[in-house]
Amino acid sequence: MPAMRGSALRLADAFAQRFPQSLARSRQAAGILPGGVTHDSRHFHPFPIYVDRAQGARKWTIDGHELIDYWMGHGALLLGHNHPAIVAAVEAQLARGTHYGASHELELAWGELVQRLVPCAERVRFTSSGTEATLLALRLARAYTGRSKIIKFQGHFHGWHDYAAVGITPPFDAPNSVGIPAETLSTVLLAPPNDLAAVRALLDAHPDVAAVILEPGGGSNGLIPPNLEFLHGLRALTARRGVVLIFDEVITGFRYAPGGAQERYGITPDLTTLAKILAGGLPGGAVAGRADIMAYLDYRDDPQWNRHGRIYHPGTFNANPLSAAAAVACLQQVATGAPNRQADARGTELREGLETVLARRGIPGWVNGESSVFHIILAEPGQKRPGAPADLFRLTRGPIATALRQAMLLEGVDLMHTGALVSAAHTPEDIAFTIEAFDRALTRLEAEGLLPGA
Ligand code: PMP
Repeated sequence: MPAMRGSALRLADAFAQRFPQSLARSRQAAGILPGGVTHDSRHFHPFPIYVDRAQGARKWTIDGHELIDYWMGHGALLLGHNHPAIVAAVEAQLARGTHYGASHELELAWGELVQRLVPCAERVRFTSSGTEATLLALRLARAYTGRSKIIKFQGHFHGWHDYAAVGITPPFDAPNSVGIPAETLSTVLLAPPNDLAAVRALLDAHPDVAAVILEPGGGSNGLIPPNLEFLHGLRALTARRGVVLIFDEVITGFRYAPGGAQERYGITPDLTTLAKILAGGLPGGAVAGRADIMAYLDYRDDPQWNRHGRIYHPGTFNANPLSAAAAVACLQQVATGAPNRQADARGTELREGLETVLARRGIPGWVNGESSVFHIILAEPGQKRPGAPADLFRLTRGPIATALRQAMLLEGVDLMHTGALVSAAHTPEDIAFTIEAFDRALTRLEAEGLLPGA
């Protein structure tokens, strides 16, 4: 049989041919790591790629292929891989010690930068991850209000702990994980996104709601678009009912503006959760917010309060000196506003360019997102622009989404799901390359008969 040309190979076969070292490592991983991966999002069909090194907006697989990276450290790398100021700060700190088991000055510099940049941040408590930050924020809200329930929204993501692993992907009434006690699940009330009447009805029916938590930039990292009228209404409603409003700005913090979505939209929550860019590409998270709520972490000259009144919150790596060094270097850059402006400009170019390709080819689809976030939605024929979370997930997480990611990897671009995050290190040339890669990837999908009408 004559050898097939690369473009005529089926996508998954072409993928296996292009990334043979990654395939070998993924087979090895199956006997070491459950699921073969260390983060559920990195699970991929037919296998995940293995990366050897990264620089700026690029990374190189162990197979020797250069990729334009849109994962950017799951959103942590607004300044790109290995920004010189961050590398220098981490190297300097490395020589001075990685963990003091003591207070240190960098945690003050870090906390002051958060206070200066984030509108709601009267006080700051560091954690090791975004998941820990949302867990602590919910505990703060419960302690402050003396109530037990929380409201979250369908399609919104707040990490993997027991109160958050609910209602993230359809079907929303089934928890996203087994192993969560029914008693815990009963404390989490789900509302459809951007629906103020639904929130009001839940608050009327449940007087014991402590907090409403949401991604202010829109569920699942902006896949479900935000609605500013809803956000303003939610701020007023929660304030009237004495319910703590938590903006989960793990993605949007320091990205949508130096002060996050709350600065961009001019809406100040009671608490906000931060991670990713917060720690400059190293591990770290934080809860920031109103001093009277954060005071539940205070010590008093009162043993009764200290043992029975306050919130207990240890954590070996909280405000770790290496993370603090990276963070201060990163947030000093963010404070200038320049990285946000650059990443936003590239994000706009990319969203517009991708939509232009879809329109030119007559393929039904859209690109959601704002600031430096984008999501490609390949639609079904005749479909109206989808707004319902279940539709958005179906179109961006199904087999066609996997095929698009495979095709984009073959064209030299690494997307998370069908979209991802642009950094200040992406150049206009990188964006132009990505738009052309998308055009070629669609040709591959058409050749597979995967596009509507194809
Ligand atoms: N909240 C949001 C909005 C997130 O996007 C994420 C992570 N992608 C988290 C919380 C959890 O953060 P981490 O992965 O650091 O635990």
